[in-house]
Amino acid sequence: MAELKLSETRDLTRIERIGAHSHIRGLGLDAGLEAREVSEGMVGQTKARKAAGVILQMIKEGKIAGRSVLLAGQPGTGKTAIAMGMAKSLGLETPFAMIAGSELFSLEMSKTEALMQAFRKAIGVRIKEETEIIEGEVVEVQIDRPAVSGAASKTGKLTLKTTEMETVYDLGAKMIEALGKEKVQSGDVIAIDKASGKITKLGRSFSRSRDYDAMGPQTKFVQCPDGELQKRKEVVHCVTLHEIDVINSRTQGFLALFTGDTGEIRAEVREQIDTKVAEWREEGKAEIVPGVLFIDEVHMLDIECFSFLNRALENEMAPILVVATNRGITNIRGTSDRSPHGIPIDLLDRLLIITTQPYKEDEIKRILDIRCQEEDVEVSDDAKLLLTRIGVETSLRYAIHLITAAALACQKRKGKIVETVDVSKVYHLFLDVRRSTQFLMSHQKLYVH
Ligand code: ATP
Repeated sequence: MAELKLSETRDLTRIERIGAHSHIRGLGLDAGLEAREVSEGMVGQTKARKAAGVILQMIKEGKIAGRSVLLAGQPGTGKTAIAMGMAKSLGLETPFAMIAGSELFSLEMSKTEALMQAFRKAIGVRIKEETEIIEGEVVEVQIDRPAVSGAASKTGKLTLKTTEMETVYDLGAKMIEALGKEKVQSGDVIAIDKASGKITKLGRSFSRSRDYDAMGPQTKFVQCPDGELQKRKEVVHCVTLHEIDVINSRTQGFLALFTGDTGEIRAEVREQIDTKVAEWREEGKAEIVPGVLFIDEVHMLDIECFSFLNRALENEMAPILVVATNRGITNIRGTSDRSPHGIPIDLLDRLLIITTQPYKEDEIKRILDIRCQEEDVEVSDDAKLLLTRIGVETSLRYAIHLITAAALACQKRKGKIVETVDVSKVYHLFLDVRRSTQFLMSHQKLYVH
């Protein structure tokens, strides 16, 4: 592997996970990390959200290396929603990978390979590259404004279009020439109206109060500096280790990223990539950005996966691991032992545990309200009450599913607003778990055993 191929990933946009959690836009915390009752699509579950916020803070301060978080609670109590909220709050630069325990058991690759890929999807590499500035390109130029007329010195950025490779001074002069047929000199102060882009020359200094007042708060004052405009600029790419692995392990690597058909990646490829990335880090060309790996249904992992996790978490590049389960004391897969959440004690020991609580009726109503808005479905007050009752009696997730189904029933009868008839129609059409179980029990003899 002579040179790692990177440029191809430049325009790769991460595929946003939409669907059941599309209404979640963050954890809904205030500046003091207290959870607002309803905020950023989140409702209630304030203690767990606050705890998740504290963990985010620790992640941001780099204080949680090698640690992991367990979200434990009954089904439908928002564990995945909280993990999504964490991902949203971290921003796009921090990689967030998500996998369900059951997804590891596929025929295409071994479970540890699938885990390894998930881990590397959650490790970002910020690579700095120097490239030539192209003629005609719009560049941001760093401008230093020394103290003038009582105003403190300031640095700022000026966006200019390069026509030729010239000094900033000349570029500024060109712009002003174009606008006002005026020349500026090094040391001149110019004012730029941020809204209109209009540039005015103020001379070599300006009277702060008079000029500020005259030009309004939108104005940015810049002193044209001396010096060359840099002919090279630094470009930063953010990719994940997994993306680098895939691109370098297949001739069609780039396409494989889109199809998800990556197959197993050879250990030598990963070793070479790790060595190369370590070199870049030493040379100051790259930085590692540990992200978050979320493993849902963690009780589905077996002992081999758990020991892989224990080892992987020792790595200095390890992402923050967030796992979730709705199981209590249960069997650790691959052994005859039982343990809390089906997780071996040595791993449990390093987990910070956040529990989620069942929702109250009012919270269910608010979550359903948010989902109706998100799905753009208009629902009458009575139908909302009915949906809420269903949510309380069966499960929140079942009630959420009924929204889309009821909207279709409404459409079929050419209605505009979902009414109780629509909800009750789909309630009878689709069984919730309890009714399905009752049905199975009373019709057991008819099924294959
Ligand atoms: P399971 O244990 O079955 O995996 P879970 O605890 O992960 O369940 P979620 O999938 O997060 O539950 O919740 C079910 C649905 O309810 C999702 O659509 C989720 O976005 C929504 N939801 C859950 N809790 C909240 C909340 N506090 N605020 C807003 N939406 C929520």
